[in-house]
Amino acid sequence: MFGDLFEEDFSFISNNHYGKGKKSKPRESEPPAPRDFTNLSGIKNQGGTCYLNSLLQTLLFTPEFRGEALFSLGPEELGTLDDSRKPDAKVRIIPLQLQRLFAQLLLLDQQAASTSDLTESFGWSSHEEMRQHDVQELNRILFSALETSLVGTSGHDLINRLYHGTVVNQIVCKECKNVSERQEDFLDLTVAVKGVAGLEEALWNMYVEEEYFENDNLYRCGACDKLVEASKSAKLRKLPPFLTISLLRFNFDFEKCERYKETSCYTFPIQINLKPFCEQTEMDDSEYMYELFSVIIHKGGCYGGHYHVYIRDVDELGNWQLQEEEDSLIEEKAFRDTENTKETENPLAVLKGILSEEEVKQIPVDQLGQKLLEKKGVSWNKKYRKQYGALRKYLQNHPQIFQLSPDGNKVSLKETHKLLFKLDSHGQNLLTPSQKNDVQWNCEKKPPRPRAASAGCHWFDLNDSKVQPIKEKDIEKQFQGKESAYMLFYRKAQLKRPPEARGNPRYQIPEHLLNEMNAANTELQKKRAECDSANNGIDLHLHLSSCYKFHNGALHPSLSWKESVVDLTIDRRKTLGDLRQAVFQMLESWEGDMVLSMAKPLPAGLHLYQVLDGDELTLDGIGLADGADIFVWNGKEVGGTKVLTGPEHEPVVLSVLRLAEHNEGGKGQHFSEAQHVCSCSTSLGQLHSALAPAGGIILKNGSGADPEAKNWEVFREEDMKETVRSVGLRDGCSVLILDSHDQ
Ligand SMILES: [Zn+2]
Repeated sequence: MFGDLFEEDFSFISNNHYGKGKKSKPRESEPPAPRDFTNLSGIKNQGGTCYLNSLLQTLLFTPEFRGEALFSLGPEELGTLDDSRKPDAKVRIIPLQLQRLFAQLLLLDQQAASTSDLTESFGWSSHEEMRQHDVQELNRILFSALETSLVGTSGHDLINRLYHGTVVNQIVCKECKNVSERQEDFLDLTVAVKGVAGLEEALWNMYVEEEYFENDNLYRCGACDKLVEASKSAKLRKLPPFLTISLLRFNFDFEKCERYKETSCYTFPIQINLKPFCEQTEMDDSEYMYELFSVIIHKGGCYGGHYHVYIRDVDELGNWQLQEEEDSLIEEKAFRDTENTKETENPLAVLKGILSEEEVKQIPVDQLGQKLLEKKGVSWNKKYRKQYGALRKYLQNHPQIFQLSPDGNKVSLKETHKLLFKLDSHGQNLLTPSQKNDVQWNCEKKPPRPRAASAGCHWFDLNDSKVQPIKEKDIEKQFQGKESAYMLFYRKAQLKRPPEARGNPRYQIPEHLLNEMNAANTELQKKRAECDSANNGIDLHLHLSSCYKFHNGALHPSLSWKESVVDLTIDRRKTLGDLRQAVFQMLESWEGDMVLSMAKPLPAGLHLYQVLDGDELTLDGIGLADGADIFVWNGKEVGGTKVLTGPEHEPVVLSVLRLAEHNEGGKGQHFSEAQHVCSCSTSLGQLHSALAPAGGIILKNGSGADPEAKNWEVFREEDMKETVRSVGLRDGCSVLILDSHDQ
């Protein structure tokens, strides 16, 4: 399939052979997840396409490729995807799909974009064709395919403009000084890893070291027409704006007869001066300065593995914030906030003040305690210990401000206003030229210009769907090992970004794509809102007081249950105020105060609990769950009857047994049974006087609710002050009432 892409035909610029254009995909029930806090989009792994994703993200974060080159090609040159179905329409599918994917990555609010339309435009329709190609190979395939599909448009030289460079190979005859020259083109440079410490050394070996033809190995000079001594060298002649470097990590071991991955340490600088490797060196140094902006990392062995990419966000499109930086910012803010309070109230400010006045950087923790007493007249143990704990512990708990020695005995102040980014000095770790070579080492010795801490120098790790902020220093972790840098992308330091591009993902995106993305985002928002309220909706049962009567200790509907209850579905994240508003709207004729009380159907009837309070709180926050019962009333009475609420007034249904009047033949005892509802806070004395006539006694069934069991216990006189609840009488419990003549 790659073969097809290299062929210089035009078959894949129309859809006759490959892409089918826009497809209507089945609607998924769950909309894709939105972007996370980085505000950058990842790319889905379609099964072994992580190499493609890494490369596409690199191209996306090459704003000159994305904007100036790709987005500048309009429909008049590329055609449109909608036209791709029309016969004979000249539609250039690959650049169109790439534009569309880039627009999605920049603007569509989803966690990860899909590349299936793009890979289809490559002609990769089956799973097999997408499997783990080599990313270096893919880079060339992609460029070649793009170049071919842009023939005849203003973008025909897009790839050359940005990536094309030349190397000149020269052989100088020692006798006639004739120079034989051969120029080579490149879109990327392949450099050795084996036996080389890093990029500079590899470039040094390639473009500074000379090879000599001498002794047995002489060179045939065309001018002298004989075998002569000669020197052979190579130099970079034309530097492209974007320099892509492929590391030869995969080698062949001829002894073992197998491929292996070179995992040795291979350093590369954040900034590099290419002047020493160039043919022409008379230009200003700044012309030779390059800055790293992407590192494709390969993890695994030489037969497969995983790719991800570290990318510098040149246009500051992402939201870069590391957790620890966040913590320190919060700490600093808390510190500033408390600084203004009374001077000795805040131990943080006091201790910081003492330490900053110290001449020596580090002092023993014990001494800090003494100085606190001397300078501020307060003892840690007396003033702060109770609230803040031991001094040493307190210092430990504020690592953003205090630095303790490893043994914990000494303390110093940390620099709180540390620079987020300190420039690495790798740019200067250049190797000394080898002894036998007398070429001057032209590299600048002064430190590289520091970049502003926040100007487009934030790095992200883009790992398929996942995007995470990283520190520039993390790049060093990819110098060596099973997981290590595999491709490096440098941009010419002189390339400056226009201010209007900064933080502006819409910059240079053509109008029709902006509109498409806006519409897609609106649709996404709508679907998310629908899905959201479906996931967060709760059903509430509203019981209206006008449909209830209070009798026999509880509320009972005057109509059927069904008619007294109104169901309301509401988002649990709405506030109680919203709920009240919704109820008011439902009950247009409601007058006066409206109180919403939690209600619960009990055996005795509906009982009311706490009044819902705090209109600014969310329904979730006040604990309203799906299916909750709510009573809507004036908060005082129902149908003229005062209603007691709360767990302390829960009605209890008791089964009241009395000996049957006709107790035939004395064979066993027969009972008559009746239900009695009383409040659980009713005292036994009250219950007794309500149920038993004068002289009668009340007994409880010691074996629970089973009336056939005969463990009747008499309530004692002192029990009469106890309540129904405290003596354990619950719904369904039986009490036996004996009249005086039954005893
Ligand atoms: Zn010669």
